[in-house]
Amino acid sequence: MDIKQFSMLRLIGKGAYGQVFLAKKKDTNKVYAIKTLKKKEIDKKKQAQHVMMEKTILNQAKHQFIVSLSYTFQSDKHFYFVLEYCAGGDLFSLLRVKRRLKEEQIQFYAILIIHALQFLHTQKIIYRDLKPENVLIDEKGYIKLTDFGLSKILLQEKADSIVGTPEYLAPEILTQNGDGYDYKVDCWSLGCLLYEMIAECPPFISEQRDQLIKLIKTKQPEYNFPISNELKDLIVSLLQKDPKQRPSLMEVKSFAFFKNVEDWQSYLTYKVIPPFLPVIHGPEDVSNFDTEFTQQEQFGSPSDGSNSDNKFPGFSGNNSQQ
Ligand code: ADP
Ligand code: MG
Repeated sequence: MDIKQFSMLRLIGKGAYGQVFLAKKKDTNKVYAIKTLKKKEIDKKKQAQHVMMEKTILNQAKHQFIVSLSYTFQSDKHFYFVLEYCAGGDLFSLLRVKRRLKEEQIQFYAILIIHALQFLHTQKIIYRDLKPENVLIDEKGYIKLTDFGLSKILLQEKADSIVGTPEYLAPEILTQNGDGYDYKVDCWSLGCLLYEMIAECPPFISEQRDQLIKLIKTKQPEYNFPISNELKDLIVSLLQKDPKQRPSLMEVKSFAFFKNVEDWQSYLTYKVIPPFLPVIHGPEDVSNFDTEFTQQEQFGSPSDGSNSDNKFPGFSGNNSQQ
């Protein structure tokens, strides 16, 4: 398989190492999101490991709230992930438009994200990169997590490398005291995400990385905006610096913020009507993505000649039948 089998329709996103396109498979007319990564920029050993990890996890972690991977292939210059397209945009774009969400909507997303994280944790995967840009909204108004480049399959008891978006990094990742860290880092990031959905900004902000790290380790976030006691109590608990004090995902479910939730399982089967439905005009609509990307007429489709699989054996594959 190679990129020539797809027509590139639009640019929809940009990440650290490449771009994400809306594309159509020529033989089936099916629409996908294709994430491309430039090999030149990810040649360093660690990052190549992240690419392989992303593929491994997307293959392994099949769940309705996790984006599904159809194909992977590579050329001399790029890696390609062919993913199902989520036309509702991501939480980052939604927050840019709405500024702050109603607590009912926050509760809905929180439940879906907790389901997805719990599933990952049972697969021994720590997500490590929960943030608004990585939470996609599908046409049903439900969510799917994407972007597993920083995730980790926990083989030993605890992980110990420093990865993740600085704003959402848990204090125990930054401390590096040899104790390592575990699944509770995803609970911390959940706290950050809930905070941002109600406060319009992340709990810890600084332009300088050192200062940001200091704030994460020592500062208590402020709550000078309208918030219910129940939501505040949940966020305060999730943002406890000591991971041992922080509730597990199981414990989170019994917090008062979720007291009106009768049946957590009913979310897994799409039985709950979402509080917000994205407006989507047909399968190729990109209007829920940032015009900074989607209005680029010349978006440099990554057609790049030969199709050698020499460099990273085990990357390319077809997952669509599984
Ligand atoms: P990076 O690892 O560079 O952050 P991501 O996988 O997070 O790359 O993709 C970057 C952006 O592209 C996302 O924030 C989202 O807006 C968009 N995107 C990624 N995957 C999809 C998808 N399957 N459907 C729709 N949009 C997507
Ligand atoms: Mg991302």
